[in-house]
Order: sequence, then C-alpha cells, then structure tokens
Amino acid sequence: MADKDKVIIFDTTMRDGEQSPGASMSVEEKIQISRVFDEMGIDIIEAGFPISSPGDFEAVSAISKSVKNSIPCGLARATKKDIDACYESLKFAKRFRIHTFISTSPVHMKHKLNMTDEQVLRAIKDSVTYAKKFTDDVEWSCEDGTRTNLEFMYKTIELAIKCGATTINIPDTVGYSIPEEFAKTITSIKNNVPNIDKAIISAHCHNDLGLAVANALSGLSAGVRQIECTINGIGERAGNAALEEIVMAIKTRDDLLPYETGIKTELISKASKIVSNATGFPVQFNKAIVGKNAFAHESGIHQDGMLKKQRDI
Ligand SMILES: [Zn+2]
Repeated sequence: MADKDKVIIFDTTMRDGEQSPGASMSVEEKIQISRVFDEMGIDIIEAGFPISSPGDFEAVSAISKSVKNSIPCGLARATKKDIDACYESLKFAKRFRIHTFISTSPVHMKHKLNMTDEQVLRAIKDSVTYAKKFTDDVEWSCEDGTRTNLEFMYKTIELAIKCGATTINIPDTVGYSIPEEFAKTITSIKNNVPNIDKAIISAHCHNDLGLAVANALSGLSAGVRQIECTINGIGERAGNAALEEIVMAIKTRDDLLPYETGIKTELISKASKIVSNATGFPVQFNKAIVGKNAFAHESGIHQDGMLKKQRDI
C-alpha cells in the first residue's frame, strides 16, 4: 500500500482561539501550552499576532525560543510593519513561518480595506515578497475566501505563489460554507490556478453553522493538506474547527480518510485540559472526543460489556 498522505496540523489556539472575547492567556500559560503542543506533534504553532500587542510579541518570542519540533508561526497583515514584528519575534527559532493575509471578498475590500482589486493585488505582491526575505516558509491567506469571487481568487493565489508563498490558506472566515461547497471551491482552485502544485492548500474553517470540522475534512478529498484548527474548537463566535475532532476522525476512519497526522493522540486530553484552564473556558460535557461524557460513554460501553460477560458466564 502506498504511504498515506500527510495532513499538516496547524494549531491556532493561541492566535485565533485567543481572539475569542474572554479567552486571553498569559505569556507563561502560552509557554506551557506550547510545550504540550510541541510534545504532541503539532506541525505548526501559530503563536500570536506579534504587532497586535506587546504581550503577543513577547509570547511569540518566548515560544520561538523554546519549541524543539513544531514550527512557530506569527500572523501579519499585508504591511512591512506587521511582517517586521513577525520576524523580530520569530527569529530565535531555527525554522519559522510568517503567515500574511489580506481580504479578497468584495464586501471586505470595499468596507473594511477601502481598496480596489488592483490595490489588493499590489499589496499581496509586496507583502509576500517582503516576508520571503526573512524565511522560505511563507503562508498567504485570502481572508473571507469563501465569499470571494472565484475568478479574482485564482489571480490572488497565483500571484502569492509566484511571489514565494508555499502554503495557500482558504479561510471560511464567517463560517458560512457547507461541506460540498467547500470541497468544490478547493477543486476549482486546483483546476484554475496554474502554479497551485507549488503550494500546500490549507483549510481554515469557522463553526458558525457547526460545520467547521465537516468542511475541513471535506476539503481533504479535494486536495487540502493542511488544516488550521484549535484545541477544544475555541475561537471567535462559535469557534474554529476542533483539532481533536479532526485528528481523531482521520485516525478512526482511515478506511475512508486515507491520511495521517503526526499527532500523538494520547496527549489530546492533556492539551484540552491545559487550554481550558488557561482560558477559563470549560469544555461542554458532551463535546466530542474531549468532553466528560464522551469518556463516560466509552466506559459505559466497557461496563456494559463487562456486565454482559458476567451474565453470559
Ligand atoms: Zn479565523
């Protein structure tokens, strides 16, 4: 049998997860979390948005000094100032990633950025080229990707790859997509962006309709090979795709999901608890994989089996 395709697990608990109001974590807590993430085999740790606050800058610096296996990553808007802050906080790691983004949907370009298509294309060219000066590992995201005009999206992706982006992230920023639609978007990108084979396609799905995990998994069949997710699914509004659900679905249903992740699943529960303690966000009892009742159910099956066995004897 051929080797299974690897799915890169990109954790954004400390960046997108922390953007959830009330979920802020101290630098010390983030360092502790990153140690668990590093040990559990998370490929990329998005440690923060360095320009956004001194605390984020400090956390990203501390994590970039301490991680051994994971690649630390920082987020940057399409400006030199943001990218400089990323580099200054990440430079202590032997390998690091800069993740830069800009909105490409008509509604965001008009009301949030007040920029034309041409201006957005120019910003992509300038920001990706600039980030590439600091590292080979540049990720570019088209914010609000699922509400972007596809023809324009193909142009932005082709340009980002041409300027050196090695990962192209497609965010469902407002949690609006459904699985078939998300997979179709990925297929269209594969079919219409001429240099797409030079980059890894990533999915970043929000859970407003409860479909973040389903959308991300649906993307796999169309060619996604990196999934962005958070422990316990924390994140703004209804949260992000839950790392534990993604990883356990791939592991449990490898008959239909012939992929592998590098995650040591025995550490998932530890990661869930440390993130819940740091953020003060309890895990709902019936939460898949890490909820208290999800484990109780497992032992319930076990007890049932034991009882039947006793009766049978
Ligand atoms: Zn997000």
